[in-house]
Amino acid sequence: MKLKNILSIALASTLTLFGCSKQEQTNEAKSEEKNDQLIVYTTVYPLQHFAQQIGGEHVQVESVYPPGVDAHTYEPTAKTMQQIADADAFIYIGQGMEGFVDRIIQTLQNEKVEFVEATKGMELLPANHNHEDEHAHEDEHAHEDEHHHGDVDPHVWLDPIYSIQMAETIKQTFIQLKPEAKENFEQNFTSLKQQLEQLDGEFQQLMKEAKRNDILVAHAAYGYWEKRYGIKQISVTGLSPTNEPSQKQLASIIQTAKEHNIRYIFFEQNVTSKIAEVVKNEIGADVLILHNLEARTNDDIKNNKDYFAIMNENILALKKALQ
Ligand SMILES: [Zn+2]
Ligand SMILES: [Zn+2]
Ligand SMILES: [Zn+2]
Repeated sequence: MKLKNILSIALASTLTLFGCSKQEQTNEAKSEEKNDQLIVYTTVYPLQHFAQQIGGEHVQVESVYPPGVDAHTYEPTAKTMQQIADADAFIYIGQGMEGFVDRIIQTLQNEKVEFVEATKGMELLPANHNHEDEHAHEDEHAHEDEHHHGDVDPHVWLDPIYSIQMAETIKQTFIQLKPEAKENFEQNFTSLKQQLEQLDGEFQQLMKEAKRNDILVAHAAYGYWEKRYGIKQISVTGLSPTNEPSQKQLASIIQTAKEHNIRYIFFEQNVTSKIAEVVKNEIGADVLILHNLEARTNDDIKNNKDYFAIMNENILALKKALQ
């Protein structure tokens, strides 16, 4: 009996001691963690947002794009190159979205920075998916969605389901770089995934209530919404806003828009296209804004608008145009 008492007292005090030192360790770990954050750079804004959501306090994330930039023509400065070289990871879309990336991978191949192609292993849409040539198209080979006209369409972050796949790749990268925070990354990923699934549901609801399914846009960034939700884009410029149409194509775009009785034209947050302005005046359309999310504007940043806030505004604008 006595021995038992002594033992239990000894055990209790050991536990207390152990508890104490464990407490101290946790505090130490916490203060170390601040300096121990992964430094991550991304290209398009959605990658930044997903990385922030998944990484939480363990990761410091910034996009290399200045606010409101045209992502298709962006070139990094020497200072940005240095920041990327010193980072733990650089996350990009790939598939030709960022023209400068192949070059910096080459230049920085001996640096510790990990290059992460977010769309790796994903099957993306073929490029040049524009319904401007719809009528000629139908004669030629009744519309199929699997035709291959060239490269792929990189605007994959506008599709919430594909975004879940990219988020998965980001999560795996973080687990690999900081295995001790695995559980945290998994939890954060799960709640991001739920938000993206909810957004997918909102798009489906939008199309259930829509009276039409065609939109006129300034640049062909919205091909994924056709594949997933049946929203067909008629686009003034190509996959990059600098791909301007020829006179003949322009006439065809205007004719298609008139035939389809298009009342709204979507301009974007980051690029103003003179040609889109011409089309707008020619068909007498009203202007709405679609945010392609390639880069946030200064206003978005000031007003704390994240991926989901901007997407919800897109859905409201689409609701109006699809009446
Ligand atoms: Zn199509
Ligand atoms: Zn075709
Ligand atoms: Zn684009």
